[in-house]
Amino acid sequence: MATPKTLTPPKEGERIEARGGRLAVPDTPIIPYIEGDGTGPDIWRATVRVLDAAVRKAYGSKRRIVWFEVFAGEKAHARFGTWLPEETLQAFEHYVVGIKGPLTTPVGGGFRSLNVSLRQQLDLYACVRPVRYFEGVPSPVCHPEQVDVVVFRENTEDIYVGYECASGSPEAKRLIEFVGREFKWKIREDAGVGLKPMSPFGTKRLVRKAIRFAIDHGRRSVTLVHKGNIMKYTEGAFAQWGYEVAREEFAAETIPWADVEKHHRGVVPPGKILIQDYIADVTFQHVLTRPRSFDVIATGNLNGDYLSDAIAAQVGGIGMAPGGNISDVHAVFEATHGTAPKYANQDKVNPGSLILSGVMMLEHLGWREAAGLVIRGMEATFRKKIVTYDLARLMEGAREARTSEFASAVVDNM
Ligand code: NAP
Repeated sequence: MATPKTLTPPKEGERIEARGGRLAVPDTPIIPYIEGDGTGPDIWRATVRVLDAAVRKAYGSKRRIVWFEVFAGEKAHARFGTWLPEETLQAFEHYVVGIKGPLTTPVGGGFRSLNVSLRQQLDLYACVRPVRYFEGVPSPVCHPEQVDVVVFRENTEDIYVGYECASGSPEAKRLIEFVGREFKWKIREDAGVGLKPMSPFGTKRLVRKAIRFAIDHGRRSVTLVHKGNIMKYTEGAFAQWGYEVAREEFAAETIPWADVEKHHRGVVPPGKILIQDYIADVTFQHVLTRPRSFDVIATGNLNGDYLSDAIAAQVGGIGMAPGGNISDVHAVFEATHGTAPKYANQDKVNPGSLILSGVMMLEHLGWREAAGLVIRGMEATFRKKIVTYDLARLMEGAREARTSEFASAVVDNM
């Protein structure tokens, strides 16, 4: 790493390395973190306490995370006059695995978002959002306990790339003229226009990751969600390429739905992971009415954006939804909600999203015992109805806890 101007790397601990597609995790890995803006510091303090306690309880003095603060957002701007120091990006690259709280998106131009910069620089092509239910957490549906889904959302293609021209701009006019001339596509002169690229390369690596996850975690199925009945060569092709990966690379472990119907009378043979596909609109109905049909979901950027929040809403909403952006080498875990600035420094908001993102990180490191302890601590805390304000207002008989009190309860209940 270049000599940092804004950062002082820790003197102890070791760097995680990626060797031959696998992580080599030392017993004292250095993990860069951004505490985040607004409520970020509150939820970060709670998270670090919980994660450290779990690691200590699981491994005693044998293992310890060496936290390394790096800066972005308001703290970076106040200290260094820049919202996103180059060294922060370099640290995430160098140390391979990192975690971040929410960041303010400053109003006005010329700002490079950290999320976009990180995704591009480290090619974090999969946005992974596990959604599961904790008993006792208030939910708008009758059977939230049936929700246990991991969404793999493609991060680098589809509308995300932002190839768009504004209505009335010279670029839009040229594009409209071009497609009118070359393809005989009639687009209204005053339209804004966008491109939606989806490739076999981008799709296959995403679906490959989802299937590997399903194999490693003993999951039952991978569902390819798409809108291919209308957008055949992007969304429809996504499903087709997904089935191809399964057939060409995971024939021993997986079985497509068509084969289950044709050769197994509709019953998935034991030991096989079902590969199926669903049209996006009906998926939104079915995740509500029959959530058990879904296990791992692989989908494009826009579908994944809507779907992961819609599923999270069934189990406690955005205060509880974790996420990770992952490439073949790097991973950055993050709270999926924003900075909730009106609650900043009040020790009030729910740290669940960032704590559970930390659990994803521990699992990613292979520290499953510590991850399991955090989950156990949270389960017991919810069962005792100790929750932050957002859940307390929806629960009868809740004991409303501050952010820090919730963290203490999780540690006590591990
Ligand atoms: P937000 O910060 O997510 O907050 C919206 C509402 O969601 C809050 O008022 C609160 O609802 C609830 N909420 C959010 N976090 C919560 C938590 N930890 N515990 C309990 N409830 C929580 O969205 P926003 O107000 O639209 O955005 C604020 C800033 O965050 C903006 O600058 C935005 O750009 C940024 N942002 C950053 C990220 C990121 O870094 N990943 C993501 C999204 C937004 P109630 O008031 O109803 O309790």
